[in-house]
Amino acid sequence: MLIQASALFLTAMIDWDALEQEFQFTAPGPNKVVWVESPNINDRPEGVKIDTIVLHHTASSNLAGTVKWFTMPESQVSAHFTIGQDGSIVQQVSCLKRAWHAGQSTDYLGRKGVNDFSIGIEIVNKGDGTEPYTEPQMRAVELLCKVLVTWYPIQQITSHEFIADPEGRKNDPIDYPWERLESLGVPLIYGRKSERKPPQG
Ligand SMILES: [Zn+2]
Repeated sequence: MLIQASALFLTAMIDWDALEQEFQFTAPGPNKVVWVESPNINDRPEGVKIDTIVLHHTASSNLAGTVKWFTMPESQVSAHFTIGQDGSIVQQVSCLKRAWHAGQSTDYLGRKGVNDFSIGIEIVNKGDGTEPYTEPQMRAVELLCKVLVTWYPIQQITSHEFIADPEGRKNDPIDYPWERLESLGVPLIYGRKSERKPPQG
């Protein structure tokens, strides 16, 4: 498997429908959570504070295919949560563990290795700017973030686009309506580093 290839190139090669077909999976429905374990995890560094949420798009419209991909050791990727277009929430990594969603990354505070201290949320979306996020999906993201902000000392919700190194490596979650998360009262850090917006809220 071309693990070293650019992730954008790699995900473009994946046959999501074939992955779905070999996978027994029933989406739980809006705002409901199911657990499908991923092996692509490790321990967080000792004593780390889980203070960041990273939002992504999956670059696929297929929830089951994405979930299956995260169960495969050869993918070398995972996220704590994946949100389907129907608002289903699939958890694959315990928040206490380190998921593999951010890759080479630096946050706005200059901290590298964002996987160490973040919770990754994948939002099922084709990622080419043609597919709107659905209302149930945006609601599920809001609800999940609200719960996580209560449980963990979250100090920022950021985008993969913002944290990815080098800048421009990622563009997700494309066109996400960040204003819908403003009521959480947590700084929202998105866009590109070079056009860095100051923390809000
Ligand atoms: Zn991403």
